[in-house]
Amino acid sequence: MIIDQTVEQCRDVLDLMPGEAIARAREKHPGIKGFGVFPVYAPVEIIHAAGLMPVGMFGAGNKVEISHADSRFQSFICSIAKSTLELFLRGDMEDFVGAVFSSICDVARNLSSVVHRNAPNIYVEYLHLPQSRISDATVAYTRMEFERFRKNLSHHLGRPIGNDAIAHSIGLYNKVRRLTRELYQHRKERPGSIAASELYAVVQAGTRIMPEEFIVLLEPFVEAVKQREVHERDCVNVVIEGAFCEQMPLGLIDVIEAAGCQVKDDDLAVGWRLFEDDVSTEGNGTAALADAYLSRTVYTSVRHDGDQPRTEGLVRRMKDAGSEAVIFAPAKFCEPALLDYVMFRQRLEKDNIAHLKVEFEEKMWTFESARTEMETFAESMLFD
Ligand code: SF4
Repeated sequence: MIIDQTVEQCRDVLDLMPGEAIARAREKHPGIKGFGVFPVYAPVEIIHAAGLMPVGMFGAGNKVEISHADSRFQSFICSIAKSTLELFLRGDMEDFVGAVFSSICDVARNLSSVVHRNAPNIYVEYLHLPQSRISDATVAYTRMEFERFRKNLSHHLGRPIGNDAIAHSIGLYNKVRRLTRELYQHRKERPGSIAASELYAVVQAGTRIMPEEFIVLLEPFVEAVKQREVHERDCVNVVIEGAFCEQMPLGLIDVIEAAGCQVKDDDLAVGWRLFEDDVSTEGNGTAALADAYLSRTVYTSVRHDGDQPRTEGLVRRMKDAGSEAVIFAPAKFCEPALLDYVMFRQRLEKDNIAHLKVEFEEKMWTFESARTEMETFAESMLFD
């Protein structure tokens, strides 16, 4: 009962336009304004500590027609960049003070400049995340960059963002991430206790709800999932890889499981659950977040390689999850994910690990060809 109700509630949140999500938050936090966070990662704790509501900008799905954004971009780019810009051009972000983009790829970089130019009332910040995680200068550089983000935001708002406030926000997001980790871990141990689309709906809704309220929603949900009866079924255990910024439609995630696969791990909305354990609430908050970003994150292909190539990270993630195949899910025209796919594929084929690539785009509304491919893939593995 709790599970169905919570998932339903979260799906409703995902249907909200950004301004509606802010209006809902104002019922508990009068007058609060939003601050957009373009994937994959930004230190949302600093935004929350500034008295704003961090909101994940995952595009607009099939909720808006692209009428203006096409004229600002070339046609062959991922849909999330266009639909995000469209939201700004349509005036859907009026309840937002600003937005932050980061160095995930050239499209995201350009998007921040195009938003800056076309939405003059929005404060646009660009976070230069480190390209190297192992250089001697990396720690100092990343701390400086996170501190710059805090100072600029504080200056823009005309109020301080103190260490105590940041520590409080880190504590809240630590709790959200801890509960989310519990869900992910439980799914690995008891696959079938939560469907991939249920888990994803809840995690993504958390990017549109204040952490204070999200914790209240998550706590009983996690307990209910742990109590849920699980029925074993014959299926192929898989991990989903390659989600980058644009996220798979819920319908496509459903198709993966309905076609005979069981998702045991995924990298959906990974930037919002990036840390493998709690971020320190002691001392300087921006330094704690920068240090956690550099050394306490889960494996993800969206970060530059550290001491181990990311191909090994994927193999390790598969083994940890007890899965036997990988579903690559790059968004159409997402060059970083498509380039990674070539490298990952070579690595998996070296060990004869099965994989399938399913490209998607935001406005995808029929999943029949993906369903056929998935069913063929699952059957070839189950009846081999
Ligand atoms: S989805 Fe891919 S191409 Fe689009 S902004 Fe993200 S990383 Fe860049």
